[in-house]
Amino acid sequence: MDPKSYFKNIVDNVTSIAIGMKITIKYCFQKTVTVQYPEQYLKFAPRYRGIHEFEANRCIACDMCAKACPVDCIYIDKSAPRKIDKKTEKAVGGELLRFAIDYSKCLFCALCTEPCPTDCIHMGKLHDLSSYSREDVVVEFAEIDKQNLRTPIPLWMERNKEKIPWVKGEYDRIKAGKLATTAADIPDVK
Ligand code: SF4
Ligand code: SF4
Repeated sequence: MDPKSYFKNIVDNVTSIAIGMKITIKYCFQKTVTVQYPEQYLKFAPRYRGIHEFEANRCIACDMCAKACPVDCIYIDKSAPRKIDKKTEKAVGGELLRFAIDYSKCLFCALCTEPCPTDCIHMGKLHDLSSYSREDVVVEFAEIDKQNLRTPIPLWMERNKEKIPWVKGEYDRIKAGKLATTAADIPDVK
């Protein structure tokens, strides 16, 4: 190698390292965009689509949601026809034997919520249903309704509720059978 090429290689390498270091240093001083979940969490927009919230006592088991689902992940079974009692606005008639959603397939597209004649299925705000088996991500809504729950309580929530205030708040809301608010968690951009 001639001396000219030798020194040119050195200059090219030093220049390349300097450009790389400039980018690295620039990012070192920028505001972080990630959060330490679940200790910290990002707030959701009003139209965020998370794990469903389901009001079993208003479901007439009409199958409209299951028919609208593009991946066939809603399973419904009833003992006899159900209808809404106009006085109480609750479903009467046969028993809702099963209402389950398989979250290993669900796309969170919300197409199931639109045709519901009684407006009893909603997109919620929980996004994390991490578990140890595929069976655990099939949520049996008719079963959890027997505990007055509209949406499942994930394992991580059970384990962190005493340590993390916002998790305790969500846990208490779900335990009380309350639906998630549809108001914006994220303030309007001014
Ligand atoms: S959100 Fe979409 S994919 Fe999930 S159950 Fe509803 S229709 Fe099916
Ligand atoms: S569309 Fe509504 S009422 Fe009909 S089965 Fe689905 S959740 Fe129940």
